[in-house]
Amino acid sequence: MKWHQATWDEPLIFEYKGKNRVGLKIPIEEELRKQVKINLPINLRRKDIDLPELSELEVIRHFIRLSQMSFGVDNGMVPLGSCTMKYNPKIEEEADNLTQNLHPLQDESTVQGILEVIYDMQRWLAEITGMELCSLQVPAGAAGELAGVLMIKKYHEIKGRKNRDEMLVADTAHGTNPASASMENFKVIYIKSNNEGLVDIDVLKEIVSERTAGFMLTNPNTLGLFEENILDIAKYIHSVDAKLYYDGANLNGILGIVRPGDMGFDIVHLNLHKTFAVPHGGGGPGAGAICAKGEMVDYLPYPLVEKKNGKYSLTYIPKYTIGKIATYYGNIGNVVRAYIYILGLGAEGISLVGKMSTLATNYLISKLKDVKGLDLIAPNRPRKHEVVFSAKTLAKETGVTANDIAKALLDRGFYAPTIYFPPNVEEALMIEPTETEPKEVLDSFAEAVRDIINLAYTNPNEVLSSPKNTAVRRLDQVIANHPSSVTPTYRVKRLREEGKIGSLK
Ligand SMILES: *Cc1c(COP(=O)(O)O)cnc(C)c1O
Repeated sequence: MKWHQATWDEPLIFEYKGKNRVGLKIPIEEELRKQVKINLPINLRRKDIDLPELSELEVIRHFIRLSQMSFGVDNGMVPLGSCTMKYNPKIEEEADNLTQNLHPLQDESTVQGILEVIYDMQRWLAEITGMELCSLQVPAGAAGELAGVLMIKKYHEIKGRKNRDEMLVADTAHGTNPASASMENFKVIYIKSNNEGLVDIDVLKEIVSERTAGFMLTNPNTLGLFEENILDIAKYIHSVDAKLYYDGANLNGILGIVRPGDMGFDIVHLNLHKTFAVPHGGGGPGAGAICAKGEMVDYLPYPLVEKKNGKYSLTYIPKYTIGKIATYYGNIGNVVRAYIYILGLGAEGISLVGKMSTLATNYLISKLKDVKGLDLIAPNRPRKHEVVFSAKTLAKETGVTANDIAKALLDRGFYAPTIYFPPNVEEALMIEPTETEPKEVLDSFAEAVRDIINLAYTNPNEVLSSPKNTAVRRLDQVIANHPSSVTPTYRVKRLREEGKIGSLK
């Protein structure tokens, strides 16, 4: 199938020339018309706002075409590493609709159902992660990290320690880890990976001291590799009573197989968007969870739902709580979506996620690892949920970079992988296929990558001029970094300036 997206070349709704067309004519009785006549002062009335007059068909075509200029997991594979762009079952939306009439200030006796959902999720997610309790207050992964960092900070404060000012972070960590730590004035110390892509234990041993507050780590790490020395890492961190923090944004690779709690972690954050199939939603709200075990449970954000005599209430305030991380009780619609996802999978389905996402990644590796120009750290180590290739050799030999491969993939009907992350891999292409992509799609993705790389060696200019079939062609990277540059708002503004559409004044 040839891939073709709708483009900007066709007119926007503001540019339609039609007049005296209506979508739906609502009959109003003359009597009623008289009643609703409002006497607006002349100076407040808008003159000639030049709105388009359109038939229903034209409006439908406009919005359908806009939707076709976009790309999402509902129309193709989105192999963005560290993002877990799995399919979001549509039944989640039906369930979320049930929450639309709730208000957070309603009396508890009238919202027992949603409180039960939160209560179950506090415990289910704890069971999945090997923790004791989870709070669903946090509206995103990074907010979960900030909550975790605050909990670690308060823990040392309560113990009367003044000098715990160092937060250790793996050098492959997501940028939000050092950002969260430095927001609380911790000195961020990067722990280098060894040449197998794992935490260098010897480096760690030297750095851990009475100043270490905690270690923020993710396992499998950002290269998709399992930190096999995790129990030793936990031992070193705990030897100075520092806390081990698990960045569980992408839990896919171990879901239902191993649990951070059993690896020695004290605090875990989860992204319900990503692992628990909540849509990432173009800049819209996400949802997280922050989970703890042992003494750290006392520091969780409040309020938590508790159950007494068969009634649910928001009365549980942990002893040393860090307070609230957001308003009310979290992004409840997304909590419900994740709840439905977990219910739908059941215990058996959950452990299949870990197995199938790992299988998908290693299947892709088997299809790509002998491709000329692509390199892989520790090629014989199996990956979990994702894999990072380096296109450094390809770039040197052909001038075609990871960025160019990404653009050429767009032309072939795939979203691009994450590129240039993690920062310790040059020309990184970070691919996360997830468990929901069918084998045939993995095959054609691998085929597309091979095709692009062959072309790089035979006709590099062909790759460098991609994408050609997308709504937006190759952008000026500098201008494109300004978010307003490619949006309809910007285009409308320009059209107004050029006098092609009316002004609202
Ligand atoms: C996505 C991600 C985060 C941040 O999550 P947000 O919800 O975007 O704030 C943190 N860590 C890792 C590893 C991630 O992939």
